[in-house]
Amino acid sequence: MEFDVVVVGAGPAGSVAAWAAAEAGCDVLVLERKAEVGVPKQCAEGISAHGLEHAGIEPQDEWIATEISRALIYAPNGKEFEVPGDGYVLERRVFDKWLVVRAVEAGAEVKLLARARRALVDDGRVVGVEYEGVDGVHEVRARVTIAADGIESRIGRTAGLVPPLKPTEICTCAQYEMIGVDVEEDATHFFVDAEFFPGGYFWIFPKGEGRANVGVGIRGSESEPGDALKVLNRALEDHELISEAVAEAVPVEVNVGGVPVCGPVGRTYGDGILVVGDAARQVNPVTGGGLHTSLVCGRIAGEVAAEAIEEDDTSATFLKQYQDQWKEEFGDTFGCAREVAEILPELNLEEVVEFLSSVENLEELLRTSGILEDIWWG
Ligand SMILES: Cc1cc2nc3c(=O)[nH]c(=O)nc-3n(C[C@H](O)[C@H](O)[C@H](O)COP(=O)(O)OP(=O)(O)OC[C@H]3O[C@@H](n4cnc5c(N)ncnc54)[C@H](O)[C@@H]3O)c2cc1C
Repeated sequence: MEFDVVVVGAGPAGSVAAWAAAEAGCDVLVLERKAEVGVPKQCAEGISAHGLEHAGIEPQDEWIATEISRALIYAPNGKEFEVPGDGYVLERRVFDKWLVVRAVEAGAEVKLLARARRALVDDGRVVGVEYEGVDGVHEVRARVTIAADGIESRIGRTAGLVPPLKPTEICTCAQYEMIGVDVEEDATHFFVDAEFFPGGYFWIFPKGEGRANVGVGIRGSESEPGDALKVLNRALEDHELISEAVAEAVPVEVNVGGVPVCGPVGRTYGDGILVVGDAARQVNPVTGGGLHTSLVCGRIAGEVAAEAIEEDDTSATFLKQYQDQWKEEFGDTFGCAREVAEILPELNLEEVVEFLSSVENLEELLRTSGILEDIWWG
């Protein structure tokens, strides 16, 4: 099999990349290991209105669960601090499928239950991938390979671009989707408390009519495998504000997963290959949010791959444009967020929240400066 572009992974990054490349006229194949795109979700499903707009995606009723106008951040002493900002809580199950359908409508082919095993490397250049499908092991050759295969990124690793994550570079997460949650539904709710949630935070993201994603992320270096679910269960029982919000709530779904919080890898391109989304660690190190960045970087990856094919130059020198462009789009957001992530554990959050809640006209200041929107929402 030979294609212009093979995309590994039909998450947001991969589907948008495939959509952009197919729309530009490329023959595109998407390989996805799961049986159903978007299922199970490993996400709290929050995205800013700015993030969607930046990615050029028009909000659709079919995948918006609820609209948000602010984030509420709670300090350990119960004091709260409001960050204004419009956003959405999505239905990723529907959203991810909607994106892959856009790619298919633009002409891409999709293979499900197709697990990519390694990048095919010929004389230092990536020339496709080997994958295992329902009928055995195959090779797909492509002029550009896009590794959009999430946190594990087997393709990014076997191409030599993505180093393994250290425990300090991962947040391990556990989440329930619950019904009967009692919180204000126009806000996302973040709870910080170094004792309860070491190196991370707890969230409640409402999905309307009492449904909500209720979860926690903690630093891999401060936890053992399986700890996140224990921390989640303990907070539901013992954390004063959280236990009150979920007193009548029942879980209908369990989601677990990891988030890379180290900031992007140094090189997201090579001869014949681009790496995008969680695979490239394009995740905001403060919030763990990666939807906005995956969508924007995915589009750029698809466009640059198509230009490379048009110009008949898929060398690293040409494909570097992808990295230049996504860096330009995000400016210093990743660097700034990484610095904030590093100092957060040193701060007395009770004092920070008390200080911020005492600043006059804070809401107006934040709305017009856009500083916190950049840091919190990526
Ligand atoms: C618990 C949790 C909560 C989160 N909440 C938020 C949030 O509220 N807002 C936000 O912005 N971000 C959030 N994130 C992060 C966000 O989910 C990711 O940044 C985003 O999904 C990245 O998109 P992606 O396409 O790069 O990767 P993914 O969504 O992980 O997609 C990768 C795809 O590749 C497939 N794949 C992997 N390996 C292979 C292989 N070898 N062969 C074929 N296919 C393969 C996978 O099955 C998957 O479909 C959260 C993450 C977690 C874990």
